Amino acid sequence: MVISMKEDATEAEIEHIVARLHELNYQAHISRGVERAIIGAVGSGRRDELESLIAAPGVEQLIPISHPFKLVARQGRATRTVVDVSGVAIGGDDLVLIAGPCSVESREQLYETAHAIKSAGATMLRGGAYKPRTSPYEFQGLGLDALRLLREVSDETGLPVVTEVLGTDDVDLVAEHADMLQIGARNMQNFALLRRVAKCSRPVMLKRGPSATVKEWMLAAEYLMAGGNPNVVLCERGVKSYDTETRNLFDLASLALARELSHLPVIADPSHGTGRRDLIPIMSRAAIAAGADGLMIEVHPCPERALSDGPQSLEPAQFKKLVRELFAPTRRLATERARVSVEAVQNRASLPA
Ligand code: PEP
Ligand code: MN
Repeated sequence: MVISMKEDATEAEIEHIVARLHELNYQAHISRGVERAIIGAVGSGRRDELESLIAAPGVEQLIPISHPFKLVARQGRATRTVVDVSGVAIGGDDLVLIAGPCSVESREQLYETAHAIKSAGATMLRGGAYKPRTSPYEFQGLGLDALRLLREVSDETGLPVVTEVLGTDDVDLVAEHADMLQIGARNMQNFALLRRVAKCSRPVMLKRGPSATVKEWMLAAEYLMAGGNPNVVLCERGVKSYDTETRNLFDLASLALARELSHLPVIADPSHGTGRRDLIPIMSRAAIAAGADGLMIEVHPCPERALSDGPQSLEPAQFKKLVRELFAPTRRLATERARVSVEAVQNRASLPA
């Protein structure tokens, strides 16, 4: 249930509602908008008692939340969430550009990539230390050595770093080195990991599972929030489909829906979403048009030598070009559309009545 307070509700009236909710066995989540405060009541207390709060001073309206993901739902919030990752705001006005190699392979590889993406305009660095590989014979990541390199390069470049945490035992170690933890697609419903990361003070990026419905994705985010971590960023990275031409089906409709259903920021990952270097620029623009708060793109100094995901990795120069062109075609498209509509109106106007 969401309790929407009156515009002129006093601090004492808000505190009174919070105290009453605690008495009734509900958690209270306050969200303060420009005009009013709204309070999300989450728990399993008695509903009739909750409904009586309409009579309390300062309360304007009680709105039932129809979704099972109470904390993630946009209904329960006065404003969208902006997640601060060591100074980079995800979900604010500026598009966030996260780039870097699929896996950290060496100091040289990470330095070269980080400096190149920074000069191209990236705002955060990515790189895998623990890799969730389909085959046990594939490169599994450099582990702690990679975490140390990520921290070192992040400190040198000033780019906050995000890296995947694969298991509950690694959470503290990863949190010590990274600015943001990534829960990978294969682990989206690893409930033990979700519960553990929920207790961590670092922000978390939750990738959508390869076969997860949007509701399952939202509920996985609910585990993180209900467990105590409010700094959750969603990431659409494509789902499985029957078509083998692309690695995954990059599901931009679900990205747009996630932003409708939830107040959390959503990042798009066209690298894993398509698996194809040639599609990344156009799908980046499409993701922005669909409402993405940022992009995560794999970049490698020499993709043909990459130990993982080479075919979908951009060379630094390609990334630079992508960033430069990111907005230009959208502008062209908008101008083109405007021109067509003006012509259509003129054509209609010149038709005989
Ligand atoms: C990655 O970001 O390199 C990765 C393994 O992603 P996903 O979990 O989406 O496959
Ligand atoms: Mn990858």
